[in-house]
Order: sequence, then structure tokens, then C-alpha cells
Amino acid sequence: MKQPLIVPDGSKVQLADFDARHVEGDWNKKSALKQIESNTDLTRDLAYRLYAENRRAVLLVLQGMDTAGKDGTIRTVMTGINPQSCQIVPFKQPSHEELDHDFLWRIHKEVPRRGNIGIFNRSHYEDVLVVRVHNLVPESQWRKRYQQINDFESLLVEGHITILKCFLHISKEEQRERLQARLDNPQKRWKFSRGDLSERKRWGDYQQAYEEALTRCNTAHAPWHIIPSDRKWYRNLVVSQILRDTLEEMAPEFPPCEPDLGDIVVK
Ligand code: AMP
Ligand code: MG
Repeated sequence: MKQPLIVPDGSKVQLADFDARHVEGDWNKKSALKQIESNTDLTRDLAYRLYAENRRAVLLVLQGMDTAGKDGTIRTVMTGINPQSCQIVPFKQPSHEELDHDFLWRIHKEVPRRGNIGIFNRSHYEDVLVVRVHNLVPESQWRKRYQQINDFESLLVEGHITILKCFLHISKEEQRERLQARLDNPQKRWKFSRGDLSERKRWGDYQQAYEEALTRCNTAHAPWHIIPSDRKWYRNLVVSQILRDTLEEMAPEFPPCEPDLGDIVVK
């Protein structure tokens, strides 16, 4: 069965319709790893041109439930890219200072500069996800945020930022296995917090909050991609492909040089 990555603008997203184990076509782990390598090779070259061109930027927004693989995706897709041309920003619980401003204040400051690829590990979407699930602000306030987010993203797009939003979709059973694996492996235990279990109890509320964000903020200028993420190799394949395709389409070019440089011999 085919499963769209992008939902048509305006249609209601129901996550139960999306299989987190889905694999399109006949990809397997081996062929995927090869393709991921070729994607990151190309992305490296295109990122270099984007940096040299210094006119536009790419913003990759990663969202997903705990253990969905935001860190792992970043590790894979950014491997080999010149660190000077990337900005990776994790968004944690807001500080007192951040809470003393509007919810987009801390986000806007971290938007990638021209020539860069920026990755948000969590983002402004937390302000309609965790904030909604835990009633951290009244509904009358978070309700308005969908439109505020759409307007904000539209401002960024007008400023020559291409926005890629990926929701890493995992199943509840897969999360159970990954949390257990964190507990069982001393090298991964640091990633576990008891809070992960209380969040897991609210799985249904989070899925509902995600469905609304994926529906209301699925705009033509910044569409959502729903990435089947129960298989890590497939998740990495799809995200690396989206990044590569986007950069290829942007076709960044080296800026013009001073004339007649070819005749110069440095002595
Ligand atoms: P982690 O990504 O595992 O390091 O966890 C970061 C934590 O910060 C998560 O539990 C998020 O839900 C939380 N967080 C991120 N943004 C916000 C926000 N705007 N309001 C409240 N909590 C947030
Ligand atoms: Mg965590």
C-alpha cells in the first residue's frame, strides 16, 4: 500500500491511518544504507554551495514522541557536512527569561542564517504539544498559536528560508521497546528519565495534539512530512532523501568571482 509523505493541504490528519513500520517500494536495510550514503555525499556538496552562495537557508524541523529518533536522524543526515554551515538547536523546557517573552522569541533567534542548514530538535511546535497536553497556558492562548505559527513560518519563507518539517512517527509498542532498551543498556541509561513514563501515559493526548498541529500547520509554504520511523534505517533514508531533494531543487550556485582571476599567477 502506498502511504503519502505529505498530506494534502486542508485535509485532516489521523495518525491511525499512517503505519509507522511502512516501507515504500522494495527498500531494505542494505539498499537504504547505500542510498543514505549517496544522499549525504550529495548533500555535503550542495551544502557547500549553499554556504558559498550565502543567499538562502534551509530549516529542518524535527518533532516526534520521546525515542522517535530525533538525535539519531540528526547524526545520520548531518554526517560529513561542514560544521560551519550547520546550526543544530535543541529546544528544551523554556527558561525564566524565555517565558518572559512570547513563545516565538527564542525560536526566531535560532533560525538559520543565510547559507546555513539549521536543524531544530523540537521547536515552536512544543508550544501546541506539551503545552497543550499539560495545560501550561490556557486553551484560549494555545488555540491562537496555530495561526501564529503559520504566519511566522510564512515570514521565514519570504526571507528565503526553505522549511522542511518532519514528524517522526513511531508506534506505542516501538516506544516501549526503545525505552526498555535505554534502561537495559548502561550506555543509554542517561537518556532515560522517569518523566518519560508519565509522558507515555498521555500517549493518546499527544497523538491528538500532533494530529491537530499536523492538520492546522500543514501549509503550502511549509508542509509537514509524516515519516514512518519504527525502522530507523527507513526513517534516515526518507529524511536524508527529503533534504537532498530539497537542496537539489534549490540548486545553490557559487557566487560570481572577480573577473580575469584565471590569468593571475601567485608568486
Ligand atoms: P529532550 O528532547 O528529551 O531533551 O527533552 C526536552 C524536554 O523539553 C521535552 O520534555 C519537551 O517536551 C520539553 N520542552 C520543549 N519545549 C518546551 C516548551 N515550549 N514548553 C515546555 N516544555 C518544553
Ligand atoms: Mg528525552
